[in-house]
Amino acid sequence: MTHPLSIRLRLTLWYAAVLLAGFLLFGLLLWFAVRQGLIASVDHALERRVQGAVELIEQTTREGGGIPAIQDELGEYADSVPEGRLIRVTGPDGRRLFPSDAPAPLPTRGYRILRRSDYVLGRPYTVIAAASLESTEDLLARLRWLMLLSIPITLAAASLGGYAISRQALSPVDSMTSEAAAIGIGNLSRRLAVPHTGDELERLASTWNHMLDRLESAVKQLTQFTADASHELRTPVALIRTTAELALRRPRTPDDYREALRQIVEESERTSRLVDDLLTLARADAGRALLSTEPLDLTLLVRDVCEQGMILGAARHVEVHTETPLKPVTIQGNPPALRRLLFILLDNAIKYTPEGGTVTVSLRNDASPTLSVADTGIGIPPDALPHVFERFFRADPSRNRDFGGAGLGLAIARWIAERHNATIAAESTPGAGSTFRVTFP
Ligand code: ADP
Repeated sequence: MTHPLSIRLRLTLWYAAVLLAGFLLFGLLLWFAVRQGLIASVDHALERRVQGAVELIEQTTREGGGIPAIQDELGEYADSVPEGRLIRVTGPDGRRLFPSDAPAPLPTRGYRILRRSDYVLGRPYTVIAAASLESTEDLLARLRWLMLLSIPITLAAASLGGYAISRQALSPVDSMTSEAAAIGIGNLSRRLAVPHTGDELERLASTWNHMLDRLESAVKQLTQFTADASHELRTPVALIRTTAELALRRPRTPDDYREALRQIVEESERTSRLVDDLLTLARADAGRALLSTEPLDLTLLVRDVCEQGMILGAARHVEVHTETPLKPVTIQGNPPALRRLLFILLDNAIKYTPEGGTVTVSLRNDASPTLSVADTGIGIPPDALPHVFERFFRADPSRNRDFGGAGLGLAIARWIAERHNATIAAESTPGAGSTFRVTFP
């Protein structure tokens, strides 16, 4: 792992941080709420105490009691309530009524103080009471300690648990990593074990496996291509060599030499065509063969290539017809590539049509430009038809060798069509003929 912190650790740290923030917030809220509640209850008790004193003054006055009676009653009252000694009462003339002796001043720090001035039967009295906050502070201090102790302990326990869980959750990643590391070009058919959990890990593993599928088939294709190419090249090279060796074995007449050389030239031409085709396909595979496109008139291009085709057809006694529209059919394309595409189709049609047959090349521009090459030749068997565009595929290998086809023509044609976003398709009736159709976008 190149990252300084593993995912596991990072997850745990995040988790702990979020948990800590949550605990702190919760603790603060709780602390303030408890404090508020405790102070409110102290205030409530103070309120009742002051109210009690006021009511006492009122009652005593109503019963006709003077100041001394009020002082007596207040004294009794102070003894009966908690913190009664912390009550001060001032009378109408501003004189202190209670306590009658000089008391210590009311404490202020750590105390709640309530002061109430009221008229009792038209005369003003002021009652002040204080209550200690000591037990409140005690309780709050205990709460603080409780939180200070429990938060770190809970946090540590939860983080350890989280670490363990994430470790368990991520352990399939570790095993996938080592499984993937063991897959190479030599055992490309191996696949990762897919956990059937329906989660991200299952998707990761199956995505990996799909990628391996694609890689494997690409590698297979490449190896097959290389093997086929070497195989195809071996035959003509061997032929050239044997012809030359035979001619050299003993002195021969100039005509014999000429015949041997003619065969060698023919075989060499075939070989260099094959090498050209292989090169084209290799470039196509590498994605390097970029086809530059330009607006071009298909009508002209078809007429041009068909003129060549007619010469070729005439040599084999096959008639070549051309049907093109009167108006230009303009598409975006690469002229040499499209020429090659048409020539491959035309050449095949002529090759696989016996003497006296006809080949019809027609260009239509109905919904979209369509180029078709139809022949009255030997046709393609239905089981071979789906494969004709594959590399090195020949419907009838033994017979084709005479014509010099290596089975690459249609593969190149399909590649050119694809590069023009066109589709290419074949239809055929064995014994009656075949039609190849290219439909441009
Ligand atoms: P080749 O160089 O062998 O012609 P292609 O890729 O051009 O290779 O064609 C593949 C195979 O498809 C041929 O070998 C042939 O069997 C079959 N094929 C192609 N075109 C025709 C056609 N017009 N009529 C009959 N068979 C055809």
